[in-house]
Amino acid sequence: MTEEEWDAVVVGAGPAGSAAAIMLARAGQRVLLLDRHSFPRDKPCGDLIGVRALIAARRLGVDEEILAGYPRLAGAYLTATAGALDLTPSTRAGRALLARSDARVIPRVMFDAAMVRAAQRAGAKLRRLTVREVGTWDGMGRMVSGTRSDGDIRLRAQGVVLAGGYGCRVAADVAPLERHNRDQIAMPTRVPEPSRGIAMRGYFRNVAAPNGRISFCLDDWVLPGYGWVFPLPGGGANVGVGTLTRGGASEGEHLRSLYSRFTENSASPAAPWLSEAQAEGPARSWPLDLGPRRRRLTADGLLVAGEAAALVGPLTGAGIAFALETGAAAGTTLAAALAAGDPRAGALASYARTTRRRALPWLRAEHLAQRWLSDPSHLGALVSTIRPLPPTGVLGARLLLHLG
Ligand SMILES: Cc1cc2nc3c(=O)[nH]c(=O)nc-3n(C[C@H](O)[C@H](O)[C@H](O)COP(=O)(O)OP(=O)(O)OC[C@H]3O[C@@H](n4cnc5c(N)ncnc54)[C@H](O)[C@@H]3O)c2cc1C
Repeated sequence: MTEEEWDAVVVGAGPAGSAAAIMLARAGQRVLLLDRHSFPRDKPCGDLIGVRALIAARRLGVDEEILAGYPRLAGAYLTATAGALDLTPSTRAGRALLARSDARVIPRVMFDAAMVRAAQRAGAKLRRLTVREVGTWDGMGRMVSGTRSDGDIRLRAQGVVLAGGYGCRVAADVAPLERHNRDQIAMPTRVPEPSRGIAMRGYFRNVAAPNGRISFCLDDWVLPGYGWVFPLPGGGANVGVGTLTRGGASEGEHLRSLYSRFTENSASPAAPWLSEAQAEGPARSWPLDLGPRRRRLTADGLLVAGEAAALVGPLTGAGIAFALETGAAAGTTLAAALAAGDPRAGALASYARTTRRRALPWLRAEHLAQRWLSDPSHLGALVSTIRPLPPTGVLGARLLLHLG
């Protein structure tokens, strides 16, 4: 069995893991970024890289040439049983206001590979490895064990960032869900929440969707959840449906039936856009960790970032901005603790505090909005209130483009 020593090991090379590796490498730490897949790898997603996510990606040094291939979004379009809303500014002032909101639809296969390259440019080493276990703190660091095609490997690291995304088993093992812990994200609610979302997306070409706009469908039959059509260059689109679930054997079947109703049924709001469209490859589904948010964020020599810490908006299912922001914060905090020679939990507590302060208000707002919008009559009232008021349309579009 091979044994190696690193200052820091990052488990998972999605947006959260790449961001953590970039900050660690920039601080001069010897960092190894691990993923069970080789890159580029696909990740089922709506591919909406919102305003916050793009700001974070640029700070982390993502290659501008990649971004340039995907145009800035010009607005949003929303359909509900009560009517449709075009949240695309028609006035020059509205367009100027929205022009500052730089959001794009970039396939994750491209975006995540670009982030991994940014990590490598910063000095992180990337390796394909399926991590099986992260050991307990032994006073000096933690052992990370994994499997690859040529045998098992054990790595000793003074600090570990867990960024394995949804269902990250190693995060569940070493940073379990707990009821009362100061280093956790906790979302107190009086009503039990659905703990998971599930979503399915496919790529289509020859799509006639509104140009440059992200479209959301909130018709009664898809609630609690939504369908989306997000435009890609050359008349392509990422088309999908997401819904909340409490588990159960039929949830996959339910999701598939929502997806085919959205993409194939002639009564679907997407039907006019997809009538000439062809699917490119099979649709893929993936779950989302929507809480309850009681994952520990830090322990001795360990931080949890991104969706491994259940940081995904409960209304929108958007998690890329959270992943980039918390990954970068985890990397920065760990690098400072390593430089000071003490990566135990006390030195990492500022990461949990900052994450709670920044993420919780947004998660709570989305949680409340999700509950409120699940009632079709509320949605109808919202649509008819916003429709006659162009300024609220611009604000609505800005808000939607901030997702992701
Ligand atoms: C269908 C769908 C649509 C979505 N649409 C959007 C959207 O449009 N905009 C948005 O902002 N968010 C969206 N999300 C959420 C978003 O995809 C996630 O929040 C985001 O990917 C989280 O990033 P992450 O880095 O934490 O995890 P991930 O992107 O999941 O990356 C985790 C990485 O860890 C690796 N890994 C896991 N376990 C191990 C292990 N044991 N050993 C080694 N490697 C491991 C995985 O291979 C993976 O590469 C969507 C989610 C779904 C399911």
